[in-house]
Amino acid sequence: MSAILSEIDPASLQAKSLRPVWLRVGWLFDGEQVVRDAHLVYDDLAIRHAGAASPPATAIRSGQDEPDLHLPGSTILPGLIESHAHLFLEGGEKRPDVRARQFTRTDSELLADAERRLPRILRLGVTAIRDAGDRNGVGLALQRRYRMHSPTTVPYLDSPGAAIHHRGRYGAFMGRAVEDDGSLDRAIAARVGDGAHRIKLLATGIINFEKGAVTAKPQMPAEELLRAVSLARAHGRQTFAHCSGADGVDNCLAAGVDSIEHGFFVNEEQLARMRDRDIAWVPTFAPVQFQLDHAAALGWDTRVQEQLRRILDAHARSLAHAARIGVRIVAGSDAGSQGVPHGHGFLRELELMESAGLSAVQVLHAATGAPAARLQFAEDFGVLRRAAKARFLITPASVLQSVSHLRVAAIVVFDGTAHAGGDNPAEPGL
Ligand SMILES: [Zn+2]
Repeated sequence: MSAILSEIDPASLQAKSLRPVWLRVGWLFDGEQVVRDAHLVYDDLAIRHAGAASPPATAIRSGQDEPDLHLPGSTILPGLIESHAHLFLEGGEKRPDVRARQFTRTDSELLADAERRLPRILRLGVTAIRDAGDRNGVGLALQRRYRMHSPTTVPYLDSPGAAIHHRGRYGAFMGRAVEDDGSLDRAIAARVGDGAHRIKLLATGIINFEKGAVTAKPQMPAEELLRAVSLARAHGRQTFAHCSGADGVDNCLAAGVDSIEHGFFVNEEQLARMRDRDIAWVPTFAPVQFQLDHAAALGWDTRVQEQLRRILDAHARSLAHAARIGVRIVAGSDAGSQGVPHGHGFLRELELMESAGLSAVQVLHAATGAPAARLQFAEDFGVLRRAAKARFLITPASVLQSVSHLRVAAIVVFDGTAHAGGDNPAEPGL
C-alpha cells in the first residue's frame, strides 16, 4: 500500500541486522544518477539492494513479497557530505566582538561546543564532514571519538589537525607554522603523528575585500607545495590547499594537490588543467556571499559592495564553466567562517551553486558521489549501492528540481537508525 512520508513514524524505518527494511520510492538519486520508481533495502550495517529492479530474495526477509513502505511521492538520496567546515568555530555568530572571544576559549570548551553541533548537523541531512583544520585539536578529538564509538547520532568526521602555514602569514588561527615544527618534513610527520587523516596546506592568504583582489604573494611556492604533496603521499595522505588568486592556483596545480579550496580568481585555462589532473575544486561561495549580504552591517561601502558582487559573479561563471568542461566539483561551505553556520550554511552553499547555473542533480552530485569518489574518506558513503553504508535522506520535497527543497525536513537514516530531521536556524550554537 502506498503512503505519504509526513505520516510515517521514523521508527518504522529503523533497521536491524536480521530485520532489513525494504522501501519503494518515486525517485532515488544514487549519488551519480536518478532512478525512477526505485527500491532500497538496507539494514544497520549496509545497503543490501538499490535500484529499479525488485530486490533479490537474498536481500529481503524470508517470505516477504512486498515493500515495508511504498512512498511514490518521496525521494531518497545519499546523506550529504560537507567537504569544508571548521567544527571548532561557531560560524553563525555574526557579532565581531563575541566572535573574537571564540578564539580565547580553551580547547576543551571549543570541543564541547563542537560536540553539541554534530547531532544538529546530522538532522539537517549532513552525514559526513571533512574538517578543514583547527589549531586546538577539536577536529582530531572528534575524529578519534567517531572512530572509537561508531555512533549513529552524529556525522562521520575526519580532520587534518592543524593546517600548515608560514609564521607571520595567514592562517595562525587554524594552523601551526612550518617554522614551529622546524621544517616541512617535520611539519607533515607531526600532523601524521597527531592522527591527521589528510594534510591541509595554506598556500595563499585571503581576498582583500577593500582591494577586490588577493594582494599578498602566495605563502607557499610551487616547489614547497610539490614537496608537501609528495611527503603527504609517502604517508598515504591526501592534501587540500586553501588557495585564492591566479598565482596561488598555478602553484597548487603544478604541485598536484588533491583539492583546491576556494579558488577565487581561477581562470578557464587553469580549470582545464584542474580537470586534466583530476584535482577537485571546492568553491566555497558562502563566506564571501555573507560579506555582500551583510555589507552595510560589516561597514562595506558601495565601492566594496560592487567589488564583492564582481568577485561572486566571476566565481559563479567559473563554476558553470567548470561543470561544462568536466572539473570534479565538490561542495563545501567553509562553515565556521564568519556568517556561515554549520549545516544551514552548507544548505545555503548548495543553493548558491545552483544559482551559479548548476542543475540540482549536479549540485547533489557535488555533495555526494563526487567527494565520495575522490576524497578518500575512511568509510564508504555518499553513494547508494549494494554494500555501501545505509546513510541516506528520505524526503517528500522535490530536491531533484531544486536543492532549496533540502530545507524541508527529511528523515535521516544513519546506519539503520532513523532520525526525524529538521533544525531551528534561530537557535544559536552552529
Ligand atoms: Zn576554511
